[in-house]
Amino acid sequence: MAGGEVRLVDLVKVFQDVTAVDGINVNVPGGEFFSLLGPSGCGKTTTLRLIAGFEQPTSGMILLDGVDMAQTPPHRRRVNTVFQSYALFPLGLRFKDVSKQDAKRMVHESLALVRLDGYDKRRPSQLSGGQQQRVALARALVLNPSVLLLDEPLGALDAKLRKALQVELKALQETVGITFIYVTHDQEEALTMSDRLAVMSGGRIEQVGSPTEVYQEPRTAYVADFLGVSNLMDAVATGSSNGRCTVKVGSFEFSADQGDTTASGDVRVTIRPERVRLEPRETTGENRIPGMVERLVYLGAITQLIVRLAQGDIVQVMVPNQGGELPYEQGTPVSVFLPADALRILAAPPEIPA
Ligand code: ATP
Repeated sequence: MAGGEVRLVDLVKVFQDVTAVDGINVNVPGGEFFSLLGPSGCGKTTTLRLIAGFEQPTSGMILLDGVDMAQTPPHRRRVNTVFQSYALFPLGLRFKDVSKQDAKRMVHESLALVRLDGYDKRRPSQLSGGQQQRVALARALVLNPSVLLLDEPLGALDAKLRKALQVELKALQETVGITFIYVTHDQEEALTMSDRLAVMSGGRIEQVGSPTEVYQEPRTAYVADFLGVSNLMDAVATGSSNGRCTVKVGSFEFSADQGDTTASGDVRVTIRPERVRLEPRETTGENRIPGMVERLVYLGAITQLIVRLAQGDIVQVMVPNQGGELPYEQGTPVSVFLPADALRILAAPPEIPA
């Protein structure tokens, strides 16, 4: 059965004195892999529990395929949940109106989906962590839900297994074609698997978009910062024309083509470490500023350099390791090039009145 569209409308959940979900509006079309990404306590799990029906909204609506779920108990919603801990109960079919023969076939089909066919006689203690999580998935899929909710399902696994299962999970979602709503605090996980994701903070959604959009076009400093290391600098926008803005960082002037290029006055500028380029100190020209290497951190595929700019800010720079020694060490003077097409202007956050 197709469908699986989830709409959250002005969704609010207040627990005593904590507003866990503070007015969320989002529309997840059927068949999408959608992630809720944010730090601990930002309201991801509560949002998921509201969709599942384990919690009741304080206000707002949850629509599944256009139908308001307010009066529908959890087991009546075509929604199933996979949790982080391996809660391995019998496969739920006993409670449905399914013949023994059909149940057997459905169990085999769902185990085959998670590549565990032939493991149906094993006990939970005879399965590895990854296998147990696959069984949890099979269990959730056997009832043929329209929407699968996943709450940090890979959180308890080691990094290598987690990476392998990320790929498997995305492939599985494409095979079964149902909506996945996936909760994680791991930005890499969300970027790898999602069709779209919502970056959450303090019970609200900061930005919704495809992985490329939120990573390359963050609308707020919070999103830029949360989605990986980002260089953020205070600046003053002094003029704009033809989609290009001039900003001053200290006494140095830069052109910026990305973000809010019509801004004026106090702003923040951001640039991803992989877009900053280091050149020999004598190089001059547009968007260049002198700097000095303060620290080098070898990370295998790349080296991370911490560079102090002449006006005082620190920027992180990622330099790919392509064989041979890098021509930098602590104290190397450099010219730091911040290309205009990589420099993004973020409106400064509003002043909070004292
Ligand atoms: P984590 O990744 O740590 O699970 P989260 O983003 O999923 O975090 P939630 O679990 O949704 O966040 O919690 C959001 C806020 O609501 C937190 O401040 C939490 O303490 C609070 N909260 C959640 N459940 C309850 C509850 N049953 N009673 C009171 N407060 C709660």
